[in-house]
Amino acid sequence: MSCYDLHSHSWVSDGTLSPTALVQRAAAGGVDVLGLTDHDDTAGCAEAQVAAEACGIRVLPGVEVSVTWQGMTVHIVGLAIDPEAPALQAGLARLREFRGWRAEEMGRRLAERGIDGAYEGAAALSRGRIISRTHFAHYLVGRGCGKDVRDIFKHYLKRNKPGYVPGQWAALEEAVGWIRAAGGIAVLAHPARYELTNSKLRRLLGAFMECGGEAMEVISGSHTPDDILAMARHARALGLLASAGSDFHGPENPWVELGRLAPLPEGLTPVWQRWEAARGAA
Ligand code: AMP
Ligand code: MN
Ligand code: MN
Ligand code: MN
Repeated sequence: MSCYDLHSHSWVSDGTLSPTALVQRAAAGGVDVLGLTDHDDTAGCAEAQVAAEACGIRVLPGVEVSVTWQGMTVHIVGLAIDPEAPALQAGLARLREFRGWRAEEMGRRLAERGIDGAYEGAAALSRGRIISRTHFAHYLVGRGCGKDVRDIFKHYLKRNKPGYVPGQWAALEEAVGWIRAAGGIAVLAHPARYELTNSKLRRLLGAFMECGGEAMEVISGSHTPDDILAMARHARALGLLASAGSDFHGPENPWVELGRLAPLPEGLTPVWQRWEAARGAA
């Protein structure tokens, strides 16, 4: 049985390893197939592909698209995409433009609270690529504004906190459409993390499927054992393919490791059956 880890981040978004180092760590950790799914950017995929060939593992080019659905932020992972697809790239470019403005606005709002230089600090940590709230969090931890990243999110970066800037990401149908136009499979990321009631999660899953979404993460680094069972029930009831990904961001967080994933519960169709079937037929 191959080991699949279909959700991970490099320093192209808010991870701390280069695409090459990420792939090397995945290979060392026993991963056979890695999904590289940086937020709103596919710029790491080419480097990861080269590293994968050198390490003898497979990398699936991917992306994690930021979406606003009914006023809340949800994430849609695209797997096995063509990173060059024009509609996808145009859509992601628009999201990165919003990110750039949002980061400056976050800096202004934090400055009003007496924390100056946060935009510049976060930008420096982002290496000239997308700026995420995670970069602000790392910078603010360094400034002694909180004890760790979680603490900074809680006091500064979550909704209704001083550094939080509301805004409009992609629509659900746009994100799924870009992924499908790029030949990929759309996967609802870490569904238990949205803390929705059962009926609201059903509505989200229904809307996602109507747009052409085909899979949901049952296994995620942020899911508890109870979450896994609950998400497995949703996937079975709706006939969604099941995905598994660590959502690894870097070795600083010892709770999440590449390839260290619980097995899929019984009675689910894994999303990787798609590619295995395609490879078998080839
Ligand atoms: P952004 O897309 O810039 O709004 O940032 C979202 C990212 O912040 C997520 O992908 C996570 O990596 C991280 N994040 C969100 N909430 C938390 C939290 N409570 N603690 C730590 N990291 C978080
Ligand atoms: Mn992230
Ligand atoms: Mn996410
Ligand atoms: Mn992620």
